[in-house]
Amino acid sequence: MDTERTTAPIKAVRASSRKPLQRLSPAIAEQVERLLGGRTRDIRLHGELARLFRERSWPRTAKIIRAWMVWVIVLDILTLALNAILLPAETVMSMLWPASILPPAALVAVLVFRRPHALWLQGVFILSTVFLILLSVALVGVNSGGEFYERHLTIMLFVAVTAIIIFPVPLGWAMAIGASALGLYLVFQLHNPGIEAGSALAGTLFFASGVAATIVARRTTTIFAQKTFLLELRDRSRLAELTDANSQLELLARTDPLTGVANRRSMMETLHHFWNEELKPTSGAAMLMCDLDDFKHLNDNLGHAEGDRCLVKVAGIIQSSMRDERDQVARYGGEEFLVFLPGSDEKEAKAVAERIRSRVEAASLPNPTSRVVPWVTVSIGMAILQNGCAVSAEHMQRQADAALYLAKKTGRNRVVVHTPEAEQAS
Ligand code: GH3
Ligand code: MG
Ligand code: MG
Repeated sequence: MDTERTTAPIKAVRASSRKPLQRLSPAIAEQVERLLGGRTRDIRLHGELARLFRERSWPRTAKIIRAWMVWVIVLDILTLALNAILLPAETVMSMLWPASILPPAALVAVLVFRRPHALWLQGVFILSTVFLILLSVALVGVNSGGEFYERHLTIMLFVAVTAIIIFPVPLGWAMAIGASALGLYLVFQLHNPGIEAGSALAGTLFFASGVAATIVARRTTTIFAQKTFLLELRDRSRLAELTDANSQLELLARTDPLTGVANRRSMMETLHHFWNEELKPTSGAAMLMCDLDDFKHLNDNLGHAEGDRCLVKVAGIIQSSMRDERDQVARYGGEEFLVFLPGSDEKEAKAVAERIRSRVEAASLPNPTSRVVPWVTVSIGMAILQNGCAVSAEHMQRQADAALYLAKKTGRNRVVVHTPEAEQAS
């Protein structure tokens, strides 16, 4: 049977104190709101937020980096193969060793980016791999000389620019890639026998402006990705808050506001569930209708507020007399409590009923003018559902009521079990 429902008030309180994982800590939520409230271009993620962003974007980042590495390996091999067909063997041989640096370096990066590592390690790997790749492309041109010299340096810059644009990495890394490409370009151009130092410098400056533009584009893309991430965080957090509020509401709708035990509606759901799940034929059950004795006298003598305090205490006593979480107590009416004991036989149910009765009496809550004793007592009517017996919940309640009536009639402060004979007698 569904224990969620039978122990609704207790369990629901526990569940509501467990915060869903997506819910943001107040400090993070405050940061998210502040960043989203400001200008998009001022968005910067620090600390925990930056870590969350990296964690969230890692699979995509790693996939892009791996794909780019495979792309440069394929391009390197294809270009070399094409050159082998079109160019003289001597030129191809001079291209061979520098070109062979690239595939192993890129392959190592593919392997490294298969699983997450510390941020600094990722940085070291990516920057050194990209540097080796750029060096390889540049050396292919430098080694073969002539028209290939400058052409390969330009290709090297193109390779660097593609990396800057598509790698979703921190801005510092993108700048380091750009700087290393421009550095290589300048150094090799200064050694280019075909051009003057001045034009090497001018060429570097020209390409530097292009690289700078790609870095700005990279920054904009990163900021938009971070903004999307912040919006997503806020949405998930609001959804979590809404879910929390809904479960709080649901809990309130099932709880008696005065005593904190389940209310009548909650008990009805429990009974409905038990009967509809067809558990009764196999498990049996018991119902206890508990009613305080001469409670009107208590109210009249000690006041309504004292009556309320007494109800809270009695509810606590009844709740503490249950066997375990399967049992449910509900405030059924003014000073009436209905207890449902699924899967219990008559002996077990009698023990629970007697425990309630004796504990309420032992609590010695004053009821000076009670006709029983000068303290609070309770009468209990009990109905038993035998295994396999087809009795409705309503019928069982009527039986418990009839037994309670008999308990009142025969002196109060007692437990009476419903029997057909007892019903006739009443
Ligand atoms: P009996 O032993 O036959 O049950 O007598 P009784 O006085 O308990 O029974 P009766 O039904 O005549 O009175 C029940 C009283 O319970 C009436 C009402 O004043 C009181 N009552 C019902 N709900 C509340 C409540 O929420 N707070 C307080 N303080 N009293 C309540
Ligand atoms: Mg009553
Ligand atoms: Mg009463």
